[in-house]
Amino acid sequence: MTSPETSAARPMKTPPLALLLDVDGPVASPVTRDVQPAIIADLLALAVAGIPVIFNTGRSDTFIREQVMEPMIAAGMPAGTIIHAICEKGAVWFSYTPAGPGPVHVDEELAIPGSFGDDVRRLVAEDYSAHMFFDETKRAMVSVEQHIAIASSDYLAEQELFDADVLDLMARHGLGVVRLDHHAPDSDARIDYRVDPTIISTDIESVRLGKDLGASRAVELLAAQGITPQAWRTVGDSRTDYAMADWLHHNDHAVKHVDVRPADGIPVKPYEVLTAADLGLDGDTIHDDAGAAFLRHWLKAITG
Ligand SMILES: [Mg+2]
Repeated sequence: MTSPETSAARPMKTPPLALLLDVDGPVASPVTRDVQPAIIADLLALAVAGIPVIFNTGRSDTFIREQVMEPMIAAGMPAGTIIHAICEKGAVWFSYTPAGPGPVHVDEELAIPGSFGDDVRRLVAEDYSAHMFFDETKRAMVSVEQHIAIASSDYLAEQELFDADVLDLMARHGLGVVRLDHHAPDSDARIDYRVDPTIISTDIESVRLGKDLGASRAVELLAAQGITPQAWRTVGDSRTDYAMADWLHHNDHAVKHVDVRPADGIPVKPYEVLTAADLGLDGDTIHDDAGAAFLRHWLKAITG
């Protein structure tokens, strides 16, 4: 294969595959939160070969710029390459080229009320700043994340207390909310918001956000370029990531989903679900190591 510096991207109207990638887990390490150089190189090589690479993350556009876009540009992103990033579970999106990021789009209808966000910021500063921090880069969601230095078990215990305080705060703001099996409607019996505890953060968001919304935006972004993939591969490390493949399958797109952290068990789905075991790797190959193995596998299949 020629090096990215000397080749130009080769866009295809009907590429054999398009990749729709959760970031935390399959691309960025959930431990260090940064991205292995080999993953950056293979994402770039796939994009140059004409395979659409689209990120579908709960992260902010700032996180994607710093952890993914800047390393890809630094590694030598050829002219003609365009990468789409759907952030904040579909509420925010932008595209980037070797020249950097294009305009950031925000669906303001899906944003959390600012006064509530301010109260969460205050709650974190006053009671929880030893274990977690308020993510100032989010535009539509409110996310409060574990400090890397804190042990996961300590964080998860503190997160229970924090989430309970958030539910109280939402009630005071008159916001109807669901958290896991707990439902607390507003005075109009509506639930417009969700508190989503993950292993490294608590996300507070519109119930309309999700990886399915991100998948629909991904299809729209490619359609605007005149690109119709023959098949999709979605990759994630959480149950909620299956919503990407669910949406694509229900909308008649060929899709297989890769689960890089199958310890929770593989749900029964009407499409194929792949794990590192399907590449002949052992059960210890998870997270970004499994993500890296699949990217390498697809790159070999495409470029021979
Ligand atoms: Mg993830």
